[in-house]
Amino acid sequence: MYERIDLHTHSNCSDGALSPAELVALAVHRRVELLALTDHDSVGGCEAARAACAGTAVRFVAGAELSCQWRDREIHVVGLELDTGDAELGAHFAALLERRRERMQAMTQRLTRAGLPGAKLAEMTLSVALPTRTHLARALCELGVSEDVQQAFDRWLKRGRPGYVAAQWPTLEAAVQRIRGAGGIPVLAHPHRYQMSHGVLRELVAEFKAAGGLGLEVSLPGMAAGDADRAASLARRFGLEGSVGSDFHQPDLPWRPLGRFAKLPDLITPIAARLEP
Ligand code: AMP
Ligand code: MN
Ligand code: MN
Ligand code: MN
Repeated sequence: MYERIDLHTHSNCSDGALSPAELVALAVHRRVELLALTDHDSVGGCEAARAACAGTAVRFVAGAELSCQWRDREIHVVGLELDTGDAELGAHFAALLERRRERMQAMTQRLTRAGLPGAKLAEMTLSVALPTRTHLARALCELGVSEDVQQAFDRWLKRGRPGYVAAQWPTLEAAVQRIRGAGGIPVLAHPHRYQMSHGVLRELVAEFKAAGGLGLEVSLPGMAAGDADRAASLARRFGLEGSVGSDFHQPDLPWRPLGRFAKLPDLITPIAARLEP
């Protein structure tokens, strides 16, 4: 079995700072044995990451983190071991890329109305592989509007803030189906971050399971003990396997370190057991 596992990471093919090859180099340095690249709504970096893993001790898992919607909330579902050539998954991602570009235009127009240099922000953020609010936050920092990414979100980009535009994501069922259709393993990401009551979270997990979900993230860096216990008991109750990942985006955010987090609780079946050496 693998000891050091990271099944949730980002590269600059979405809103991560490192290229897929740089991410793999860091994973090698941290002695990660099993690494999934799970960029937001993209498998664009998987080929390069897989190539970079060849000849190293890192076993690569092609993945993605799909944005979706459940009862008006934004939910993330990680798909592991995807067939990156699956046509329907490709069409799903192509449609979302178009929507993200339109959303970025709308957000920068809102920021213009709020007195910020929206045209400049659009120019800075629309040239990337997949525009996200993280790119917009970084651009706000680069222009000196905000001091750091967190401040940019809090002041401008969070729901209810001047730059926020709600996104229309596909349904939870659609995301799970696209992942299953591409031969992948659907894992409900970071349940503790949805700010739901226990009862609502339980309903989400039940619907995820009914839609064909197989795993739940139960161990992430910085997860409070209570949240980890809650996730573990949900996994047990609904027969979901446990996944672990850092949600790594960039090396200068030390609270999301690649490949470093708590082990799975004993009673949880590791989803990694499905990922053969
Ligand atoms: P988007 O998919 O364009 O809405 O961007 C979402 C990304 O922004 C997430 O994947 C996170 O990396 C980041 N993000 C979302 N909310 C926050 C927040 N409140 N603070 C910092 N980063 C955030
Ligand atoms: Mn992100
Ligand atoms: Mn996420
Ligand atoms: Mn993520």
